Formats: sequence, C-alpha cells, structure tokens
Amino acid sequence: MGTYSDKGDEAVLLDAVDQFIERDVRPFTRKFESDDSYPEEIADKLSQLGLFGATIGCEYGGLGLSAQIYTRIVERVSACWMSISGIFNSHLIAANAVERFGTEEQKQRWLPMMARGEMRGGIALTEPDCGTDLQAIRTEAARDKDQFIINGSKMWITNSMYGNFLAVLVVTNPIAEPRHRGMSLMLVEKQAGYETSKLEKLGYNGIDTGSVHFDNTRVPADNLIGLEEGKGLQQVLAGLELGRINVAARGVGLARACLEESISYSQLRKAFGKPICNHQAIQFKLADMATRLEAARLLVERAAHVYDNGIRCDMEAGMAKLFASEAAIKNSIEAMRIHGAYGYSKEYNIERYYRDAPLLAIGEGTNELQRIIIARQLIEKNKVV
Ligand SMILES: Cc1cc2nc3c(=O)[nH]c(=O)nc-3n(C[C@H](O)[C@H](O)[C@H](O)COP(=O)(O)OP(=O)(O)OC[C@H]3O[C@@H](n4cnc5c(N)ncnc54)[C@H](O)[C@@H]3O)c2cc1C
Repeated sequence: MGTYSDKGDEAVLLDAVDQFIERDVRPFTRKFESDDSYPEEIADKLSQLGLFGATIGCEYGGLGLSAQIYTRIVERVSACWMSISGIFNSHLIAANAVERFGTEEQKQRWLPMMARGEMRGGIALTEPDCGTDLQAIRTEAARDKDQFIINGSKMWITNSMYGNFLAVLVVTNPIAEPRHRGMSLMLVEKQAGYETSKLEKLGYNGIDTGSVHFDNTRVPADNLIGLEEGKGLQQVLAGLELGRINVAARGVGLARACLEESISYSQLRKAFGKPICNHQAIQFKLADMATRLEAARLLVERAAHVYDNGIRCDMEAGMAKLFASEAAIKNSIEAMRIHGAYGYSKEYNIERYYRDAPLLAIGEGTNELQRIIIARQLIEKNKVV
C-alpha cells in the first residue's frame, strides 16, 4: 500500500482500523479490562494490520505513516479502549530511536523485525526513585570487551512482560558532568538476568506495566543505539516528541468517547418529564465537552503537522499533550455526572474512561513538565535581552 501519502490509501487504512476496532476490540474490551488480562489475540491482529510498523519507514518494512495519519489511528483506537494504543505506541517510540539514531546496520537488523511485530517492546526510562528527573537514573551498564553488563531497576514499564525487548536508558559513565553526557540508550532482549513483575494500577488495564530488574544482564555492545555512548538522553527526548503527540491523540479519543456516549445517554434518560439533554445544565456540559474535544484535536493536528515537516516541536507537542490530556480528564468527569449513578457503575464505559484518563497527565512527561517545556520555549523564542 506504499507510504499512504495519498488520500485514497489513507481512507482505506482508516477504514480497516475502524473495522478492526468494531470486530476485534469492542466486543472483548470489557472482559479483558475487568480481568486485567493481556489481549494477546488483539495484539496479534495489530501485527496483521501492520500497526507495529505504523511509523517505521517503508524501506524497513513499516507503513511509513505520517504523524498526522498515525494520530487519527490512535484517536480511533483510544476512543474504544486506550490500552490497545499502548501496545504499539511505546514500541514505536523505541523504533523511532533506532530509525533516527541507529547505524544503518542496526536499522537493517532491528526495524524489519519490529515492523512485523516479531520483536515487540517499549522504552524503559523511569526508575523506582525517579521519573521526571531522568538525569537521576542509576541503572548502570559497564563495558566488558564487546558487551555491556547492566545492573539496576526500571519501573512502570509498558510492554515489559509480554514484549521481548526494551530500549533501556542506562548510565555508562557515572562520573560524567553534566550527568546526561554519561547516559546511553541500548536495546535489551529478554534473557537470563532480566526479571519482570506486574504492577497493579487504577486503570489502563490489560496492558502489561511492570518493574524490570537487571542483574548482571549481558548485552552485546552492538545494541548501543548509534554505537555512541553519552547520547542516550538526547535520543530519548527526541523520541518523546512523537510519544507526546500520541498521548495527546489518546486524550482526543477518550474525550470523544466521553462526549459521544453522553450525547446518546442524555437523549434517552428522562428527568422531570423530559430527556436530560433538554435541561440547560446538561446542555452546557455537552457544549463544553465538545469544544474541548475540537480544540484538543486541532492542537494534535498542529503538532503532528510540525513534526511531519521535520521541525523541532517540543512546544507544540507539549501544548497538545497538556490540553488533550486535561480535556480527557474533564470530559470523563462530566460524562460521569451526566450518567449519574450509571456512570459510576461497571455496566457503562464511563467509569473506565474516568480511571484511564489521569494516566495521560502523567505518562510521557507529566503535565507540570509540559508547562515547563512550553514556558522555556516561549522565553527562548521571544528574547528581549
Ligand atoms: C501506567 C503507566 C505506564 C508507564 N509506562 C512507562 C514506560 O513504558 N516507560 C517509562 O520509562 N516510564 C513509564 N511510566 C512512568 C512515567 O513516565 C512516569 O510516571 C512519569 O514520567 C513521572 O515520573 P514519576 O512518576 O517518577 O513522578 P515524579 O517525577 O516523582 O514527579 C512527582 C510530581 O512532581 C512533579 N515534578 C517533578 N519535577 C518537577 C519540576 N521540576 N517542577 C514542577 N513539578 C515537578 C511531577 O510533575 C509530579 O506531579 C509509566 C507510568 C504509568 C503510571
């Protein structure tokens, strides 16, 4: 299907995604979510659709999608069940680091397997004692001839249990100043000395979020991305632009699901002799929810457009992530109010949206951090002295 550069291809792909959601995801969501069990069959179908290679270049076997098309897919999937988007999103951030910073040999070796979904993984940055402050990580990788030996722990790592590799941020030079000059990113396959255990969460069920412990884990030196030490943080931060745009697109999906289900419910539920949608207080909520949704979607489109033009977009991605995640949280609360007690019940999806939405304010950099990034850029771009 080529690069999906023309509108016809794009429509075919989005149609295939819609069919996949209605046939393979929606009917099974409640069961997997309430059991908190990993949806392996759905993950395999994602692979058949090519979504593990969504943003990987066609020359490496991926679909070569632009961020703009990719965000439309993420929105659609997340409007049904956000956890499914996590299965391929963090995998694609790892792939993005290889594609942007890997050597040609690394790209040829890893990207086709990643695009086919044979190698599935994610990105391991956060540790038990630090998340926002990544320069404080302690997981170390010591060079031993043509290998690195990794020791340390990562926490809250998506795809760490059902995936078979992770791009891991490690310290290769503990005395480097500033500290980021001693940090490197390497691809680590599951093996002896790589232990994972599942973490229990409020929401975002089904997908595996785990802690990972490295105990003298040996990794070929060839797995160091770009074969260059000291560039890891830079490589990770560049990949997080796409990661943040995708979190924002998830927010749009969730905000949309909350709105759509509220519009339907408010026409069916009656109070004081008329559908609640005829009460002005409910109309105000629907209007605000719809306005937030549209604004969030436009910010995502804008950030994706800048990203696709190869321009640094940490400010645009930060704004989209900040606004869309808060829109999802607000819409989930309003949807719950509109649904009354049914919103609080397991019978409806609203309680799931309400549990899933707060993650968007935390993952891929908290919203406090996004505000800092936006403000820094504003000042840098508008210097008066
Ligand atoms: C379900 C789930 C999945 C995740 N998946 C992954 C994954 O796949 N890979 C991965 O590496 N990580 C993952 N994470 C971790 C996530 O990226 C971190 O939780 C996030 O970066 C925040 O780090 P923290 O939780 O350590 O919070 P902290 O950094 O301890 O922050 C605590 C609070 O302090 C605020 N804060 C910190 N510094 C500042 C500052 N300078 N100014 C103002 N406020 C500040 C934060 O905004 C936050 O409100 C996941 C988390 C969850 C919950």
